[in-house]
Amino acid sequence: MEQPFRTTLAQLLKARFPIVAIESHEELRVLFEVRAVAGDADLVRTPRPVWTWSLTDGLRRDDGEEQGRTKDPADALDALLRLQQPVVAVFRDLHPSLGGAGQPGDAAVIRRLRDVATAFRSGAVPRSLVLVSPVSRVPVELEKDITVIDFPLPAEFEIRGVLEGMLRANAASPRLRIDLDDDGRERFAKAALGLTLHEAENAFARAMVNDGVLDLADLPVILEEKRQTVRKAGLLEFIETGPRLSDIGGLENLKRWLGRREGAWLADAADYGLPAPRGVLITGVPGCGKSLTAKAVAAAWGIPLLRLDIGRVFAGLVGSSEHNMRAAIRTAEAVAPCVLWIDEIEKGFAATGANDSGTSSRVFGSFLTWLQEKSRPVFVIATANEIESLPPELLRKGRFDEVFFVDLPTRAERGAIWSVHLGRWLRHPRVGGALTADHAVLTELTTLSEGYSGAEIEHALIAGVYDAFAERRPLRHDDVVRALVNMVPLSVTQAERIAAVRAWADARAVAATAAEDWDLGTPVAPTQPRPDGGGPHRPHGGRPVEF
Ligand code: ADP
Repeated sequence: MEQPFRTTLAQLLKARFPIVAIESHEELRVLFEVRAVAGDADLVRTPRPVWTWSLTDGLRRDDGEEQGRTKDPADALDALLRLQQPVVAVFRDLHPSLGGAGQPGDAAVIRRLRDVATAFRSGAVPRSLVLVSPVSRVPVELEKDITVIDFPLPAEFEIRGVLEGMLRANAASPRLRIDLDDDGRERFAKAALGLTLHEAENAFARAMVNDGVLDLADLPVILEEKRQTVRKAGLLEFIETGPRLSDIGGLENLKRWLGRREGAWLADAADYGLPAPRGVLITGVPGCGKSLTAKAVAAAWGIPLLRLDIGRVFAGLVGSSEHNMRAAIRTAEAVAPCVLWIDEIEKGFAATGANDSGTSSRVFGSFLTWLQEKSRPVFVIATANEIESLPPELLRKGRFDEVFFVDLPTRAERGAIWSVHLGRWLRHPRVGGALTADHAVLTELTTLSEGYSGAEIEHALIAGVYDAFAERRPLRHDDVVRALVNMVPLSVTQAERIAAVRAWADARAVAATAAEDWDLGTPVAPTQPRPDGGGPHRPHGGRPVEF
């Protein structure tokens, strides 16, 4: 358990915050921590006993008898109000009485909570109420009385503790052979980061029973279990395999900037006095490699990639988006070091405050605060297409380390993109036979594809392969040319939008394209899909900055 939780809770108790809400599935871990804080004279000055309440057990002193008939939450709160002695009372799963998700709360409980807040805030003896539940609901009446705090997922040493316990418990089993040295155990514990202790235990149990041997070959079982658990939460997705940086044609400026930040989360970087990087916002024309870059970076750095579906953070019933965002951040922090890729960030934050009684601005605000203050090595890559609608706060200096603009590829970049994609098909035994990627072919395709995005270049190539497949023969150069000529790229159908996006980026973002890849000459927007000879082209958006 990281110390910040204990410190935060201790401060709140000492400062007489009357009601603290903790959102967690892990009741037992929370109780353990609360007891550790409440009983520690160094942390809270006056150690106090912990009382607990639940619908099934009623209110009772730790390991003691139920205090009268207190299973009903209103009765329990009455009993608590009468208690004139130092106490930290932990109420488990009171949330159904607090309403939310369109349901009204229990008026008798909410009123008593307000009474508790008033009495505890000013009473002579230190008393506090801690609410623990998997979802924290704060009715409007109690907004000023309840403080919600985060409870982190287990740290590596806690998960390691569970693993060691299971290994000890099963060491004598004739049906299990354990072949894990110290290093292997560490890798197991690391692989389970992001899970609750209970989930980690499940994952280890599965790895043990699948073939009767527990060894490094079982690591994928843990990762699979983790993928499932994270997917169940529905917001984050583990992306296991990514493209390589060499699969990205062009965007050298961006790649170089990212390359310089590799290992920035290591102690070595801190030794240099470097602040931990916050992350990067990549905006630009659709289909030009933003997502590709996010995926490739995590793979190149050898750290996990978590994709956050921002649309889903807000898709739930009103009130749960804050919970969703906190849960996603908590998982990312537990898995750290990792890359947190927020795809199409504008979908969540663009309409901030429009029609949801301030929920999205609150979520947005807490995200920004986290982005600025986060201490765990979570490198955020946010990507956006609809950049004009991004709120200005997101772009203010100090939020992201840099804002990049990815434009339609320049001539040099198109050459690189053709090389990547053609190269892939040329290696294919049935498709590649009749084609070469010699200079003349690349030059022609590069010229013909002026105004095409990387995705459109890839698309044209696949359309050509379909033609070849229809006749069951290898791909020919004219298949690709025909496909290109028949396509109308986005730069033509959406010329105005692209011009607007570039104008926006010109003042606000750094060009992802390296200066040496810019085509010299006057800037021209590619309004023709196939201008003769491919005119000079300088990406419009973005300041040219060297790294
Ligand atoms: P977006 O910028 O909209 O996130 P993507 O990165 O998803 O676009 O690109 C879609 C596909 O187009 C990629 O998977 C890749 O195959 C191709 N592509 C786009 N840009 C490039 C590029 N610079 N180099 C190589 N392939 C690219």
